Amino acid sequence: MSRRAKIFSGILAALLAGYLFCLPRDLFKGVPYSTVVTDRSGELLGARTASDGQWRFPPCDSVPAKYAAALIQFEDRHFRWHPGVNPVSIARALRDNLKAGHVTSGGSTITMQVIRMSRRRERNLWQKIVEAVLATRLEMRCSKDEILALYASHAPYGGNVVGLEAASWRYFGRPPQDLSWGEAATLAILPNSPSSIHPGRSADKLLSKRNRLLARLLEHGDLDSLTFSLACDEPLPQEPSPLPSYAYSLTEHYSKVSPGRRIRTSVSLPLQKQVEAITDRWSDDLDRTGVADLSAVVMDVHTGEILSYVGNASLHRRRPGALVDVASSPRSTGSILKPLLYCALLDDGEILPYTLLPDIPINFGGFAPQNFDMQFSGAVPAAEALTRSLNVPSVHMLRRYGVERFLNLLRSLGMTTLGRSADDYGLSLILGGAEGSLKDITGIYASLSKSYQTDTTFFGRTALWYTFDALKELGRPDEIDLRLVRSVRKVAWKTGTSYGFRDAWAVGVTPDYAVGVWAGNAQGGGVPGLTGARTAGPVMFDIFNLLPASSTENAYASGGWFLEPGPKEYVRAETCRQSGHLKGLYCTDIDTLMLPRRALHSDPCPYHREVDGEPRFLLPPSMEWYYRQNHPEYRPLKAKVTSEKIMEFIYPHPGTIIKIPRQLDGSVRGVVFNLAHRDPSVKVWWHLDTSYMGETQYIHQLTLTPAAGRHTITVVDSAGNRESTTFTIEQ
Ligand SMILES: [Zn+2]
Repeated sequence: MSRRAKIFSGILAALLAGYLFCLPRDLFKGVPYSTVVTDRSGELLGARTASDGQWRFPPCDSVPAKYAAALIQFEDRHFRWHPGVNPVSIARALRDNLKAGHVTSGGSTITMQVIRMSRRRERNLWQKIVEAVLATRLEMRCSKDEILALYASHAPYGGNVVGLEAASWRYFGRPPQDLSWGEAATLAILPNSPSSIHPGRSADKLLSKRNRLLARLLEHGDLDSLTFSLACDEPLPQEPSPLPSYAYSLTEHYSKVSPGRRIRTSVSLPLQKQVEAITDRWSDDLDRTGVADLSAVVMDVHTGEILSYVGNASLHRRRPGALVDVASSPRSTGSILKPLLYCALLDDGEILPYTLLPDIPINFGGFAPQNFDMQFSGAVPAAEALTRSLNVPSVHMLRRYGVERFLNLLRSLGMTTLGRSADDYGLSLILGGAEGSLKDITGIYASLSKSYQTDTTFFGRTALWYTFDALKELGRPDEIDLRLVRSVRKVAWKTGTSYGFRDAWAVGVTPDYAVGVWAGNAQGGGVPGLTGARTAGPVMFDIFNLLPASSTENAYASGGWFLEPGPKEYVRAETCRQSGHLKGLYCTDIDTLMLPRRALHSDPCPYHREVDGEPRFLLPPSMEWYYRQNHPEYRPLKAKVTSEKIMEFIYPHPGTIIKIPRQLDGSVRGVVFNLAHRDPSVKVWWHLDTSYMGETQYIHQLTLTPAAGRHTITVVDSAGNRESTTFTIEQ
């Protein structure tokens, strides 16, 4: 090879290499995009502008056929055939520009325009040559359709609207694939003269341009004459319309965690629209009663996916806090965690479904829970305690299960907001002392339903079945207005009301869906009358009514409800109907129940025993005293039977620490001591330490004001029976 040939081939190789590497890998590197959030099938839920304030949707892979046809007819008729540059039109443009002395006409192909949009350089002849070279390189890298998509994604549409998709939504309120011929033609023209979109200004010019393009499309055979004349009659777009805004909180969330991305969520847009219609209506109602915030979550039990998400239904009221996503915020859980505790104890065999639990005044180191109705029943079957959402039996259950163990259970079930220690929560954990988000808690309820229907079970199926069964009874009859509950659908649901009426919860589950509703004032105080059942319950049932009828037909669910567990998942055992325990020696009314296997190791009935040759059901005096008030059939033991406890302190229990706050005037309030006697008509004499304090009959209550320190209170009845208990006063 000659020297000249070597130099020549060297230059050629350098040019070739230069050509191959001249085009940046990512043409639009660094260009910021809008955050776009869609539903499960790609329908737009909402979007946010890009970081430069532009409505510029992330690039699409392809463009709809009508728009592609219109764009090619308008911009670059030989697009499908040329290699990125069109020599004929370049020659024509060159001639025109030279004649005019500056750049007048483009002569650019669509490919060259893509290059120009990506480089944003000055428009002159040199740049045009560079664009032409780069365009041929781009044609080697991308298909024609990909080049069209790049063009459509970055073309300017006037104002802060960039790209076909944003323009389609802003000017026509629909996605590009739904555009008519007239609309597609308009959007093909606009990037060429973006300012002509403004109403009034050069609208006639735009209209005639559009119709000329439509005529060309007719000529080319893209549309028939009827479609053509209809398209010519279409009006031009007016003011830009706002983008859709459904599931506002989700769009807001993704605009922060993954800005500039297109996010496909599991939400179903048709359902989301219906749920928002319901929550908007309820939110307006509730607002009049002082309840500002309402949120709702709908989940698919089988996939665990969120189908609808309303972070806060009060958006339209434009008040501080309306934008806060309360469905993801930690809130006091009220009674909403009680079913999990019942299920866990049942599964462990620590209680049976209807085991009698104490419902009497208690005081654990100063913690003295009350029931919602401030009443005590003495003793309640565990399932009924759950249905009625009684606080005192729940605290007994938590004591039995262990606070730390329950806390770990809640965390493993998916509660992400429990940041404090077991000691810090204490027994109030079960009464709303814990904070949880509606999203987490609805997810936990959904996972209970799923775990019943799949092979991976967190709890045994028998325990779950009894839990669902207790929850399908409407809870708290005193708290619910049945007229407000419109549904006849079977739902296992639980309500919760936090201390001070700040949070109202209703979470329900079927074999297919879980629905959670929260209402309250996210930033303010409580609202008297705000309760889970009355405030959140009706909203929850309205949402359940939207959902399709059951799709579940499997071994564990059918016809919209859970079937009984299979015979391998339980044992049958005889239980005492009155105590709910396993049958003891002297029990008389016997049930045969399916029970979790571990229940066989639980204690037999402690309340039936033989008295004077006859089986008797006898509760401890403290339970009996309250129990008798609702159970006229209960036969208490007459006094004078020395083997039985005659008297028992209802308050205080041995070792109770009583904290007495000092009043404003410096005085201290007295402590009410409370005693149960099997025969209330008996006279009882009271002693504090060694001093006589007074006597009682029928109602054995006495108010005393002991000094700080440790004390013993002793009572003696007319038969000489004694009972005493010790306690400590703290001031
Ligand atoms: Zn019994």
